[in-house]
Amino acid sequence: MSSHEIANVVIIGGGVVGTAIAAEISRHYDDVFLLEAMPRLGLGSSTRNSGVIHAGIYYKPGSLKAFHCVRGQEWLYEFCARHNIPHKRTGKLIVGDSEDQLSALQTLKERGDQNGVVGLEIVDRSYIQRIEPNVVSPIALNSPNTGIVDAEELVKTLERIAKSNGAHMLTDTRVIGAEVKNGLVTIRTQREEVGARAVINSAGLYADEVARMFGYDRHTIFPCRGEYAELPPGRSQIINGLVYPLPLPTGHGLGVHFTKNLAGTLLVGPNARYVKMKEDYENDRAELITFYESAVKMVPSLRLEDLRPSYSGLRARLLPEHDHSFADFVIGHDPQWPSVIHCIGIESPGLTSCLSIGASVSQMAREIL
Ligand SMILES: Cc1cc2nc3c(=O)[nH]c(=O)nc-3n(C[C@H](O)[C@H](O)[C@H](O)COP(=O)(O)OP(=O)(O)OC[C@H]3O[C@@H](n4cnc5c(N)ncnc54)[C@H](O)[C@@H]3O)c2cc1C
Repeated sequence: MSSHEIANVVIIGGGVVGTAIAAEISRHYDDVFLLEAMPRLGLGSSTRNSGVIHAGIYYKPGSLKAFHCVRGQEWLYEFCARHNIPHKRTGKLIVGDSEDQLSALQTLKERGDQNGVVGLEIVDRSYIQRIEPNVVSPIALNSPNTGIVDAEELVKTLERIAKSNGAHMLTDTRVIGAEVKNGLVTIRTQREEVGARAVINSAGLYADEVARMFGYDRHTIFPCRGEYAELPPGRSQIINGLVYPLPLPTGHGLGVHFTKNLAGTLLVGPNARYVKMKEDYENDRAELITFYESAVKMVPSLRLEDLRPSYSGLRARLLPEHDHSFADFVIGHDPQWPSVIHCIGIESPGLTSCLSIGASVSQMAREIL
């Protein structure tokens, strides 16, 4: 990239969302540049998550989260099958502690039905025990369309596709400033400047700061850490797939759940802890007790000594800790500079939604190019 060059599209941030946008838009245009601050793509939230292909149950009907999750999961299953990306339609149980939680589970089912999620049904103890013999819950919402994906392989595949379409994927390239003059955007990195006809901000946790480089100051990201524990291989068979409690009433997470990943590791978590720093990935050992207390209600044979700290990820939340309302993805043109498109607050289900967001954002960019 040289300072004389004018790119058609510059994408800031190479997580799963930016890489999916690059893979799609490079089918239509030359001179697509993706600029990623880290030495490799996908090192942010995109590979520090549960790797779950969500069905679309939780999100407010009509929201972007609901739309992109439901469309995105369908596309993602097809994409993974076509490109041999490890994935599995495991199904998932959202379990209630007692029959009293039937109405909460029914409310979730209705929301999922409204969002177009297929196959949701309330199931009883005998059904639960056939699938998960160690889960004691009397009642659950069964979501057969939920699954898991190898997020790292997904990012690598999207990167390969983007490159084979001719996109330039530049790592170790942090965007530090931007300027708009006569309608042309100039992006500044540590090394150089480049002009761009369209710019896409998919900077994950830093998308609010990148937006401010363009004078767009409406959103603040509050990093909310999700820490995981894992079980030793000898104990991972106590759960076969995905087992979740009812989501947290605070809206800050889906509740501490069990996820059996594609490598067969059984994860417990994540919690939801607001932190001050966007790089604060510390995994607090003391949280193991909280994990245990939540998870043992679903699986009484779990032992505290089974749990050991694992990795953590940071959610790009758009609401502060005391605010329990629903926050949607923010995907749209910059109000002042329409050639700039922002993707802000892409927390869960962002992994599931990546192909759908990629298609929508590419369409928005094509309309201005
Ligand atoms: C604990 C946890 C569990 C989750 N579980 C799930 C799940 O099971 N299923 C699901 O669908 N979703 C899940 N998610 C959400 C999902 O991981 C995210 O929505 C998704 O990864 C967001 O992708 P992204 O590309 O927007 O962000 P990121 O992966 O964070 O990518 C943004 C990139 O931008 C780069 N960047 C930032 N600033 C700059 C700059 N100035 N210049 C250049 N590059 C820059 C960063 O280095 C980073 O690589 C989870 C998230 C967390 C934290």
